Amino acid sequence: MIQRPKGTADWFGQEMAYMTAIEEVVREVSESYRFQEVRTPIFESYDLFSRGVGNGTDIVTKEMYDFKDKGDRHIALRPEGTASVVRAYIENKWFGPEYPHPFKATYIGPMFRYERPQAGRMRQFHQFGAEVFAEKDPRIDAEVIAMACEIFNTLGLGQLKIAINSLGLPEERAAYRNALVAYLEPLEEQLSADSKRRYKDNPLRVLDSKDKGDQELTQDAPKLSEYLSKESKHYFEEVLRHLDLLKIAYVVDERLVRGLDYYQDTVFEIMTESEKFGANTTICAGGRYDGLVSSLGGPETAGVGFACGMERLALLMQLEEANDSLRENELDVYVVTIGEDASDYGFKLVNDLRSMGYVVDQDYRGRAVKKQFKQAQKDQAKLVVTIGENEIAESTISIKALKTGKEASLPIEDVEEDFDGIFNRLTIDSSVIDAYFNESKD
Ligand code: ATP
Ligand code: MG
Repeated sequence: MIQRPKGTADWFGQEMAYMTAIEEVVREVSESYRFQEVRTPIFESYDLFSRGVGNGTDIVTKEMYDFKDKGDRHIALRPEGTASVVRAYIENKWFGPEYPHPFKATYIGPMFRYERPQAGRMRQFHQFGAEVFAEKDPRIDAEVIAMACEIFNTLGLGQLKIAINSLGLPEERAAYRNALVAYLEPLEEQLSADSKRRYKDNPLRVLDSKDKGDQELTQDAPKLSEYLSKESKHYFEEVLRHLDLLKIAYVVDERLVRGLDYYQDTVFEIMTESEKFGANTTICAGGRYDGLVSSLGGPETAGVGFACGMERLALLMQLEEANDSLRENELDVYVVTIGEDASDYGFKLVNDLRSMGYVVDQDYRGRAVKKQFKQAQKDQAKLVVTIGENEIAESTISIKALKTGKEASLPIEDVEEDFDGIFNRLTIDSSVIDAYFNESKD
């Protein structure tokens, strides 16, 4: 028996419904913010990620799925989406005057990281993300965060916490990094194994270590905000002020630094504090990366964006029992047929009704009428259409609404024209309408 690879999943039913709901909401909300979807390959040159994500990051040093292809090219399955979107932006010259400015793109798709699998941590997982290129403006930083929030709200997820911080410009971040290394140097022996490894390559990461000992050791570390220029501080304040304007609550977290090399200025994470999820878990993370496009060979270009883990989001939706209505898979019509002739008749009708937009099913096992009706009830069909000898003789179909018990008959040639009316008349619970009119009378 061949099993799926460790850290991967098969989706079906409920889980698939959550994923579909997420994708639909992402497309709907991002469209109103005037983002356009991009789709890039799931494998790229290894160098794109080693340069774009950064050689000192966990993603590149430990987590990449890379291999030589048959033409001896060094390939990697993408571990994240931003580097690919940047590559595509440069390669296709999407910065040209015929493209929108600022350039706003979303993506949805699988990502690959060789990690130790656990709940919410997979080797193949999925992200949706958004990127805005070519304009540095605090309103854009705020808008990107607002769009993520809008997506979560639409999915019925309320209780999310936004943590935000500023890393300042690259030279400010570099000055801070030196100060931090100087502070950590005498403490090196006491750091956790992970932090010891990180502190030379990526010392800022020590600040967001999950290890209690590391957290105590860095209690008195120099503060990032003390290294920010007046301009960087002002920019950050403007981002926060625009979030205030949108009534988006956030917490400024001085220790938030993010793991990727390319961030500057604004960085943020959106996490759940849902008790059912356990400790704070990050669902969505992002920030500003103005140097990335030029570092990958493109023009000097501002950039800001986020990525959101869809498995974690789906898990949260399940725990919070979010938006039931998104899971609907309602059956409108079940077509019951009696006898050979009716079968052909029914087969055609099922297809016609589907073309009209109804969700329709039928029996394929030649079962008795009673069994077919049972199936319709089990599947909670709104209407059952019956075709038997009588119906064929008279060229009609018999229609019954299971919930209201109402019945009707319709000449077969009128299905296209009149079925909508009958469907509504039979399935709408008239007591609701009656109650409405009675109420409005007094
Ligand atoms: P973590 O600290 O949890 O490893 P990260 O910093 O590596 O997260 P990012 O690269 O910022 O994560 O990716 C953004 C989001 O993608 C995460 O917040 C998470 O929701 C999701 N994500 C990242 N790695 C995985 C994974 N291996 N499995 C499932 N989701 C993931
Ligand atoms: Mg990670």
